[in-house]
Amino acid sequence: MIAPIKSLSMNEVEQCVKSAGLPSFRTQQILSWLYQKNVSSYDQMTNVPKVAREQFKELYPLHTPSTVDKQVSVDGSRKYLLELHDGALIETVGLPSSDGRLTVCISSQSGCSMNCSFCATGKAGLTRSLDPGEFVDQIHIVQEDFENRVTNVVVMGQGEPFANYDNTLSALRIINHPKLLNIGARHITVSTCGLLKGIERFTQEPEQFTLAVSLHAARQEVRDEIMPRMSSQPLEKLKEVLAGYTEGTGRRFSFEYALMRDVNDTEKDLQALISYCRGMLCHVNLIPLNYIDDSPIKPVKRQVMDYWKAQLDNAGIACSIRASKGSDIAAACGQLAYKRR
Ligand code: SAH
Repeated sequence: MIAPIKSLSMNEVEQCVKSAGLPSFRTQQILSWLYQKNVSSYDQMTNVPKVAREQFKELYPLHTPSTVDKQVSVDGSRKYLLELHDGALIETVGLPSSDGRLTVCISSQSGCSMNCSFCATGKAGLTRSLDPGEFVDQIHIVQEDFENRVTNVVVMGQGEPFANYDNTLSALRIINHPKLLNIGARHITVSTCGLLKGIERFTQEPEQFTLAVSLHAARQEVRDEIMPRMSSQPLEKLKEVLAGYTEGTGRRFSFEYALMRDVNDTEKDLQALISYCRGMLCHVNLIPLNYIDDSPIKPVKRQVMDYWKAQLDNAGIACSIRASKGSDIAAACGQLAYKRR
C-alpha cells in the first residue's frame, strides 16, 4: 500500500524497513534524515543504498510543506501560512522570548470541527487532520527561519489535537526523541477543548507531556453556549477525568479561560470557576480575548482581568494573566483562520 512516509509513526517506519528486507539500523538512519536533518527528498539520504531509496520513493512518497505567506509582529513573533502537499492550509507561529526560548505553536488539523463561538479557526470548519510528520515539519520551518533551536512546543494552533489523537502522539514522540528533535516532554504542551476520552488516554502515556484544557466557563449553560460541541462532555465529568489525570500522573495541568464581556465574566462565573478549581492540581491562565472579525463577542477591560486574578489568588488558586503575542498579525489564540491576505 502506498502511503506518505510522514503519515507513519516511528514504529510503522520500522515495519516498512523490515518489509523491504533492510537491516534494522536503516530505520534510525531514515528517521534521522527525515526528522533531524529535515531533507526534502530520498536522494539526499546518502548513506541509504540507492535501491532502497528508489523502493521507498515509490511506496512512501516524501512531501514537504511550502511557506506561502509569512507575517512578522511588532513583538517579534512570526506567523507562517503553510500549504501541505494536497493543498490543505495550516498556520504555525514562532514565539521568541527575551530569555532565549523559542516556542512554536503548531496546528494539529487544517481547520477545526469544534465550532467554538469565540474562535476564528472553527468558523471555516475542518479540512483534514494532520499526519505526524506534518506536525514536525512546522517546527523545522520555524527553526530554520529563526536560525535558532526550538525549545518549546505548544499544540495550540488550528485544530483539536485529541480529535486526531494517534497522530498527535506519534508526532510528540518524534519531537521528544533524543536522536530526533530532542525537545523535553515537559516542554511540549497539548491543549484540548476537553475531549474526555483523549484526556483519559493521555493520562496513560508514559511521557511527561504537559496538558492544557480550554475551559472558558465553569457554568454548564455558559459553556454549552460558547463551546456547543462540548455539551455532550459535561463539566462534572471533565472534573472526574482530570482528577484521574492528576492521580495517574502526579502532574499539574492548566486551564485556559478567555474572558469575554457579558458572556463568562460575571461574579457568578468567577465563583463557579473558584469552586470548580478548588481541590484540583491546576493552574488557571486568564487570557485576554483576541478580537475576531464579525464576532459580537468582546474582550473585558484590564481591570476585570486583574480583579479575577486577585480573587483567584485569594482563593488559593494558582493563576496568571497570559500575555497574548502576535495579535497585530492575527496570530494570537483563536485568530488562526487560514485566509490569505
Ligand atoms: N482545540 C484545542 C487547541 C487550540 S488551543 C483547544 O481548544 O484547546 C487555542 C487556544 O486559544 C484555546 O484555549 C482556545 O480556546 C483559545 N482561543 C480561541 N479563540 C480565542 C480568542 N478569540 N481569544 C483568545 N483565546 C482564544
